Amino acid sequence: MSARGGSVLVAGSANLDFVVRAAHVPAPGETVLGQGFATYPGGKGANQAVACARAGAPTRLLAAFGDDDYAAPIERSLQAAGVDVLALRVADTATGTAFICVSDDGENAITVAPGANVALRPEHLPDLRGVSHLLLQLETPLATVEAWALAARAAGVSVILNAAPACALPERLLAAVDVLVVNEGELAAITGVRDDRAAALARLNTPWVIVTLGARGCCARIGDALLHQPAYPVTAVDTTAAGDTFCGTLAAALAAGEDGAAALRRASAASALACTRAGAQSSVPSRDEVEALLARVQADDAPATRAASP
Ligand code: ADP
Repeated sequence: MSARGGSVLVAGSANLDFVVRAAHVPAPGETVLGQGFATYPGGKGANQAVACARAGAPTRLLAAFGDDDYAAPIERSLQAAGVDVLALRVADTATGTAFICVSDDGENAITVAPGANVALRPEHLPDLRGVSHLLLQLETPLATVEAWALAARAAGVSVILNAAPACALPERLLAAVDVLVVNEGELAAITGVRDDRAAALARLNTPWVIVTLGARGCCARIGDALLHQPAYPVTAVDTTAAGDTFCGTLAAALAAGEDGAAALRRASAASALACTRAGAQSSVPSRDEVEALLARVQADDAPATRAASP
């Protein structure tokens, strides 16, 4: 992939993740003694911006930070990845945080304190000149996300929405989206259809819908074409930010002019590699690592995008 072509604006959340490992996730009212503790820069917006920049696209992030010490590690991580950060500073407010308990068998329980993220408003969207793709998620206020999508549509910018965490989506927002990315649970939540992917997809008019399926890969409806991309085989140790790596890499590939099948392959390879490392932004692979996996697996004649029933 060449870094020539469009540029991506990511507008979304930035959080510091507080992660503790424990034998099991505590039940209501229970206290468990954890084992290891670490903080990791996270938040869907920031994670996706890191993935997009590491994939080679010129990437800008609009995000909000509080006036505490939690902002600095996130900003350092974004800078290290080459993300140009447009930061809204919110006085007397905490930076967004997420409290994550990961159990030994890979279960997790997450509580997010959104803090400064809720201060993002429609008017904070920067001038869109030079931007080819706007990448959005739902960890910022829904009315703001809708206004940003409508502004981008009016400016001729392609809108990619990762509808996570899931909620009922206003029709006006969906109508302004070019590429919708969801996992199976999110697809069910926004369509109201469970256990029938074809019926759920039929409810959506969005030109492109991509459904990520964890270790089973992903499927997509791109116009009239149905595609299935198996996951790249890896030994997964931590799937945190697999979906974010997928979305950021996808946006970079589309901005570079790759077609749908090639963009799905690249996003799948990058997100598989992200599963082999701990943390969120710290797990996102470099473009060279993704190229190496794509070349290796092509040579082995392994995953290839193919037509499939949804
Ligand atoms: P989310 O974290 O948003 O629920 P998924 O779990 O569907 O997203 O993962 C997103 C993508 O990450 C998948 O489509 C797949 O390409 C990749 N992925 C996830 N888990 C694995 C795994 N165990 N092995 C290889 N790739 C994986």
